[in-house]
Amino acid sequence: MQSERGKSFTSTCCYCGVGCGVKVRVEGNNTVSVEGDKEHPVNKGMLCSKGMNLQYTVNDKSDRLLHPQMRYNKNMPLQRVSWDAALTRTAAVFSTLIEKYGPDSVAFYASGQCLTEEYYVINKLIKGFIGSNNIDTNSRLCMSSAVTAYKMALGEDSVPICYDDIELSDCLFVTGANPAWCHPILWRRIEAHKAANPHIKIIIVDPRATDSCSIADLHLQINPGTDVTLNYAIGRVLIESDNIDMDFIRQHSEGFDRYRELVFEKTLAESAAICGVAESDILLTATYIASAKGFLTMWTMGLNQSAIGVNKNLSLINLNLITGHIGKPGSGPFSLTGQPNAMGGREVGGLANLLPAHRDLNNGGHRAEVQKFWGGTAISDKAGLTATEMFEALHDGRLKAIWIICTNPLTSLPNARFVEQALKKAKYVVVQDISDQTESLAYADVILPAAAWTEKEGTMTNSERRISHLQKLVDPPGEALPDAEIICRFASKMGFKGFDYACMEDIYKEHTRLTKQTNLNIDGLSYSLIDEHKTIQWPFNKKSNTGTARLFGNKLFYTPSRKAIIHSPPDHLSSEMPDTEYPLILTTGRVRDHWHTMTKTGKVSKLKQHTKDAYLEIHPADALELGIENGQVSVVRSRRGEVQVKARISTAMKRGVVFLPMHWGKILGNDLNRTNNITSTLIDPISKEPDFKYCAVRVEKW
Ligand code: SF4
Repeated sequence: MQSERGKSFTSTCCYCGVGCGVKVRVEGNNTVSVEGDKEHPVNKGMLCSKGMNLQYTVNDKSDRLLHPQMRYNKNMPLQRVSWDAALTRTAAVFSTLIEKYGPDSVAFYASGQCLTEEYYVINKLIKGFIGSNNIDTNSRLCMSSAVTAYKMALGEDSVPICYDDIELSDCLFVTGANPAWCHPILWRRIEAHKAANPHIKIIIVDPRATDSCSIADLHLQINPGTDVTLNYAIGRVLIESDNIDMDFIRQHSEGFDRYRELVFEKTLAESAAICGVAESDILLTATYIASAKGFLTMWTMGLNQSAIGVNKNLSLINLNLITGHIGKPGSGPFSLTGQPNAMGGREVGGLANLLPAHRDLNNGGHRAEVQKFWGGTAISDKAGLTATEMFEALHDGRLKAIWIICTNPLTSLPNARFVEQALKKAKYVVVQDISDQTESLAYADVILPAAAWTEKEGTMTNSERRISHLQKLVDPPGEALPDAEIICRFASKMGFKGFDYACMEDIYKEHTRLTKQTNLNIDGLSYSLIDEHKTIQWPFNKKSNTGTARLFGNKLFYTPSRKAIIHSPPDHLSSEMPDTEYPLILTTGRVRDHWHTMTKTGKVSKLKQHTKDAYLEIHPADALELGIENGQVSVVRSRRGEVQVKARISTAMKRGVVFLPMHWGKILGNDLNRTNNITSTLIDPISKEPDFKYCAVRVEKW
């Protein structure tokens, strides 16, 4: 039933990991209006362009999937069927494949936009009942390098800071990120902090001069991929100038001696030359850090989406550790989450190598504990297939069936043509989505219509560990169902017990019980308690009824020794290097007003005005050499394919580097003309995150 007309409810924006609070007013005819929530601690009423236009994406149901559809074999057209028919047949196909080829022959590929309850039941189903760890999400493309580095350095995937640290910081080192466009409301807070306190220092590290540089005191326009070299050079200068915290290093960390040796292997001049920045700018950066009482490092995809993503993350976290800037106001490493609930997914263990509540898949005791709690089958000790590995396994036949939930891999995964071939080879493809614009629908044997934001209940956790409760306010269109309900119905069809929840909160409560006595403990935190607090940061203290703003104030980390680990990863870039055939470096990213593959933002005319089509950003000298004029259609080729796109000549680029936005699945209106036709197949060997930020290409006139 639709909520009371004319009444306003609090909710959370469903786009990025900032997690802004919104007031949703239920209007007539199953529609809503949205405005910023002035009382919300994150955004205090502010919304960015995407948030301000949320109601248009929700109210426009013209692209919505309304009914389950199915085809009985690959040569037949899809036809409308009942939920019962779709799920009965899917359960039969999955059971047959599992019996014939084993549990690892099926996989679920989900999304950082799923609600925590949704992740929880998918994870429970595949790990605890089917007996495979083949669940991964598009968070693999986004945060897995940061997750791995937090675990290695701090003992667990735990973001130590809170957003209020922004206003308490006097040096912000923003690297591999363009928050002015991609985390706009946090950026508004940084802008306001700088305006009120002009003495604070903002350092931006990026091969492109982005909008975030507009308030920077220093822009280090590094050569792509040289982040480890830069961070080590800064570390060297801090050590040489005696601006490190030896008390913290001695008492609360391990690994400093090896780190000191490594950072002294290159001279400052050598590092500056590799990074393509001035020595004096590295010295100035170290001076800014040394003078700071509060030092925040902030980063996102420029560090994470790399063949050396974990190493980049570790080298950055080291700057907080050697200066003792962690666990105190205004200080700490702060990974900016891309998606609205990537953190919620990690809390429930919803990736191929995780278990619930930060338990370790490699730990037999942890596996047994979770199995006992769920009451299902033994949890496999073999890590599941990660996002890109799933499509490789479909391609070579190891994986037979894939269930894709709330994500669009044909536009968002690297080397998209390979993904296309993989889906063609799959024996069975289930696509569960809200939109009929998702490219993978063309390969689906079953299509399951899902409920969207405001049409279902659940929780999300933002970048600062803040949990919010989202209510169902309007009815989903047609026969669409909440994702968790679809999974639970399917699990019951498979004959599994333990999925007959009476309501969404029952799933949530089960998840909270699994967090008991862990470092992310939220045991006892009910929906009504979240509502009472409006939102709350984990861990939750049941006795005092309080959340936790900042971690590690006691300097006790989650490692076995309770000390933070200063790692010394090698300073070596393993990306695809340019050569004479492919002489330029391609990096990819977002534009201001679009989100992911545009199935939502692409519906809103106001959001289409800022950037009307994809573009190739190229330095004027490179364009001149290639005879390319502004606006001219060019072809960008890599070893994997090509994309045709209009050139945008810009001094914001570094020479030798070109940029493509990632959103469009149809550049210039052409089917499957997309950025990810050409991106690299390399992944970080530890985090398995793809190298979207570096591959060799050549550019020619069309
Ligand atoms: Fe939504 Fe992110 Fe914009 Fe906030 S900053 S309104 S969460 S898209």
